[in-house]
Amino acid sequence: MPIQILPDEIASQIAAGEVVERPASVVKELLENAIDAEAKHINIIVKEAGKGLIELSDDGTAISAQDLPLAIARHATSKLSTAEELFQIETLGFRGEALASIGSVSRLSIISRTREANSGLKIVVEGGHAKTPQPIGAPAGTVVRVEDLFFNVPARKSFLRTDRTERRQIDILVNRYALAYPEIRFQLLQEERISLQTSGKGDRREVVASIYGVETAKNMIEVVSEDENLQVTGFISPTTLTRSNRSEIHFFVNGRPIQDASLTTALVQAYHTMLMVGRYPMAVLFIKMPPNLVDVNVHPTKAEVRFRDRNLVFRAIGRAARKALLAHTPVSSIHGPNHVRWSPNWGAYSSDHKKTDPTWEMANDLEYSTALTTTSGEQNQPSFSKGAVPLLRLIGQVALTYLIAEGPDGLYLIDQHAAHERVLFERLMSQKESEIPSQTLLEPVTVEMSIASARLIEDQLKILNDLGFRVDNFGTNMFIIRGIPTLLSNMEPSAALMALVEDFEEDETPLKGEIEAKIVARICKKAAVKAGMVLSSEEQKVLLTDLESCQAPRTCPHGRPTMIHLSVELLEKQFGRRG
Ligand code: ADP
Ligand code: MG
Repeated sequence: MPIQILPDEIASQIAAGEVVERPASVVKELLENAIDAEAKHINIIVKEAGKGLIELSDDGTAISAQDLPLAIARHATSKLSTAEELFQIETLGFRGEALASIGSVSRLSIISRTREANSGLKIVVEGGHAKTPQPIGAPAGTVVRVEDLFFNVPARKSFLRTDRTERRQIDILVNRYALAYPEIRFQLLQEERISLQTSGKGDRREVVASIYGVETAKNMIEVVSEDENLQVTGFISPTTLTRSNRSEIHFFVNGRPIQDASLTTALVQAYHTMLMVGRYPMAVLFIKMPPNLVDVNVHPTKAEVRFRDRNLVFRAIGRAARKALLAHTPVSSIHGPNHVRWSPNWGAYSSDHKKTDPTWEMANDLEYSTALTTTSGEQNQPSFSKGAVPLLRLIGQVALTYLIAEGPDGLYLIDQHAAHERVLFERLMSQKESEIPSQTLLEPVTVEMSIASARLIEDQLKILNDLGFRVDNFGTNMFIIRGIPTLLSNMEPSAALMALVEDFEEDETPLKGEIEAKIVARICKKAAVKAGMVLSSEEQKVLLTDLESCQAPRTCPHGRPTMIHLSVELLEKQFGRRG
């Protein structure tokens, strides 16, 4: 076949394929246009999962009668005029492709009227063919109707998933924009039922509540962190609120929802050792940075972006999340009805206050911790490590497993094993900087392993040595142990080494930093006092004090709680002293 230039119609269908993959892509493009037009109200109507109708009305700046025919042309945009501007994008759109693409794969109509115009204008495009615009009475703003999506591209239609899935995609998408723009009032009607409605009052926690429910919204921890070029704000879930996958971790860059696996990793790492294996946090995080530090023109649907300095963003997310988390992880409580204690006072700090006062975070922590802490000997410590656990008065040990203590707000039951694990974990992790004490064995021990286990050990020899193991290769799949960490000196050396291998094997591809922490957690599990061990009252006291000085005292390194709190309020309710 000779080379030929494709007819316009085919060329536009190919181009449309990149932008309009499914009904949710249409919703996305129309939403972005309305937001770029500074709409205050956006209404979306979806029928037949978007295949029948997608209608979006807004009260934004609208398109003038003169511009309307251009709006549906390819590469026609009002948002960009020079190549340099491409690296300074402050609008969601800029490619001038969406309306042309949508028009080539559906029956599209646009009615628009600017505030100055006496009447509106309507334009209709069917499968890429535009009809002559007609004047029409209309309120100020724009209404875009997309009917019979993919009516002329049956192949594309056959790739769509079930109606339920397509509707869900639309929900997820509109939810994201509603989170990003709390000052816009959104309404989404799917098959005549309200799927989402927000007030437009600008309160993001309220939007979180309309999407995830009031309870979740109340529990989410606010993140506010700012340095020179980069601001991270939003919400992350406390360690008690988790999901089985990463699908509720959302990132936005300059108001644009983006997908970025490495930012997700940064967030998940911030929860390291605080969540159970296989559990993931929820998050809605907004990154604000100068537009020239992020390239948004790398993906046709603008779903991915490229950062000038990826590490900077990665670190900022981790730091912001970790800080918020350490300040707010509440003790596991047994909740009585209407139990409200321990919930931080969200409304107390206005965002202005946060921006101007560098000590706001500390103030916030302190307010939280003074509720828990009666006295404190370490006034110059960062407040969150202090506020983390109240000072406790030891009462004793029960069932050879739990310590009982009294705190300023009731009773605490502490799992001695979990608590000791946490103490050892933090001690080892901080010792790492110097050197972890190792005990040389009087007689070196040799162990033989499976090929797979031997590989794993070989890969981690350096970390193991850093942690106080003196292990070397000793022939095929054989190792010689000359020393083990002093902490493990009561264990059989080969059992100590094998215990670590098990942990590697469970892991698919742990990250480098994570491996080390995992190994340390594993060591601590082995070395910590067990349930069923008698502890002298001196040992009990030391354990409590050590726990109090931990950075994240409320969970063991594997994410289980170290303590349960029975508030005075709950006790009073249980004893019928209060209603
Ligand atoms: P882009 O958004 O990349 O510029 P589009 O094809 O989505 O490209 O839209 C083309 C142009 O039509 C926009 O640049 C804008 O000027 C105008 N437009 C589209 N939708 C709206 C709207 N809802 N309100 C005001 N103007 C709009
Ligand atoms: Mg657009």
